[in-house]
Amino acid sequence: MKLSNPFNAELKQRLDNAIDESKRILLCTDFDGTLVTFTGLPSETQLPIEMRELLTRLAGLEALHLAIISGRRFQELSELVPVEGVTLAGNHGLKIQFKDGTAYEPEIGEDLKKTIALFNKDIQERFGDKEGIIIENKNFGLALHYRRYDGDEGKIEDEFHEIWKDHNFSALEVIEGAKLLEVRPANWNKGDAIKLLQEKWGGRPTIYLGDDTTDEDAFRVLQGQNLGFPILVSRDENKDTNAQYRLKDPAAVGDFLDDLYRYLTN
Ligand SMILES: [Mg+2]
Repeated sequence: MKLSNPFNAELKQRLDNAIDESKRILLCTDFDGTLVTFTGLPSETQLPIEMRELLTRLAGLEALHLAIISGRRFQELSELVPVEGVTLAGNHGLKIQFKDGTAYEPEIGEDLKKTIALFNKDIQERFGDKEGIIIENKNFGLALHYRRYDGDEGKIEDEFHEIWKDHNFSALEVIEGAKLLEVRPANWNKGDAIKLLQEKWGGRPTIYLGDDTTDEDAFRVLQGQNLGFPILVSRDENKDTNAQYRLKDPAAVGDFLDDLYRYLTN
């Protein structure tokens, strides 16, 4: 399916119809690969100054709620996004700090934590000394990044799944992202986070921007909604997705957000 550029006439018309005079809107976005180019090294990423200024402007709009929903740990995300008035959701929304100061953080069971710790130990033993492989401990999960790995990627994937078989625990699931394998809680995803944000702020138009597998859960929630605007960030015009619109990269996301800001302030 070919997706159109979000700020085309059709989307503007839909936004015009969806937004009332108060211009209330919920703007949700992923972080890595969406607002910033992902290099494969989570520790290397920074929010460019222009993007930070743009987010600050958007967050300053009275009628707009800005939420950033990332797979990163909450603490990491909050350090990467030093912007006032933004709702931040880390660990795919398993910890949310709302802009009004309240928070959402479900109880995580001890057996889940224990499984993750044991799995982490085995993964460290197998991959810890392999050059180009990064193991990220996420408190409620674990991610293995292999974008920088020069060897046989298929073998890494097979070994990861094999080790997981020894620990397999129904409250956890494996997801596959861009050069990334991750084990995370199975009963909560970015789609659930979107629903929670919508409940909190009531039936306003919702935009969601994202580039990866985990964002499809959020797209799926918005896809069926009259006031939903799911936007995929990808260079691949034919990517299988639940999104309705497409932007090619974080630079295009910047242009889109700038257009949106102008639209909302006109
Ligand atoms: Mg991403």
